[in-house]
Amino acid sequence: MGGQSLAIPVIPSAEALAGGRRGGLIARMFGRQKSDAGDLDGAFHDISDPRLGRTILKDMSNYLKGCLPAPWKATAQLFSYMFKTKQNVYIRGSRESADQPMVYSVQIAFSGCGGLAEVSSDIACHWADLYYRANRNQVHESVLKPFGLMPHHNTSLYDGWIETSKLFLPTPDFGYAEFTSDASQSELAARFGVQPDWKRFELDGAEFDVPDPEPAEQLQEWLEANGVELMRDNQCRCQMCSPDFDVGAFYADFAR
Ligand SMILES: [Zn+2]
Repeated sequence: MGGQSLAIPVIPSAEALAGGRRGGLIARMFGRQKSDAGDLDGAFHDISDPRLGRTILKDMSNYLKGCLPAPWKATAQLFSYMFKTKQNVYIRGSRESADQPMVYSVQIAFSGCGGLAEVSSDIACHWADLYYRANRNQVHESVLKPFGLMPHHNTSLYDGWIETSKLFLPTPDFGYAEFTSDASQSELAARFGVQPDWKRFELDGAEFDVPDPEPAEQLQEWLEANGVELMRDNQCRCQMCSPDFDVGAFYADFAR
């Protein structure tokens, strides 16, 4: 399945846990015979919540599109993936063992589309994280609270986008490329005991899953030769992090 998800820690209100016409979270997660989280085992329990999903994705879309009124082509493609294809938002309840308290979070899961959209799911998560960090109080007040989900007072529980070594670079026609930084390259080398020989720039699998994958392959080769030096400064070139990056100038020498 793949994909990436962002987890926002929440505390469900007593009513959200127990009550309501459709039953509370506990009944929906664990079956109607359960009335108390004390009955539950230590596994993950997820319930999909399409109404919460629509609300939070709409709010995220408004924020990101408001930040980027003139989207680059790669950004427009990313918006279409994030907000026009189906993403799954669910509430997760989990705990490590039966004597631990339940921990709840809202999970915003961006689909990897069976390996076709791994890069898109990574950068979508990066942008969902930017959205939440910039709007944390408003997200809790106007998006989550109406669903009975209260802010977690321990805000350090928010890990956010943990794969900070991932950096992104827009391409002219193939969405965003993901760059493996020198730091994560060394980390991978240490973990596997060999210098990895895979490409530094990755595109979505969907770009190669077409009758003629050659244009995407050419772009990837060009990036391997021309993009690594640019990205050595560990600066993400996505439009949210680097709005002044000149996409046209960077690709001026790339013959299309
Ligand atoms: Zn970025």
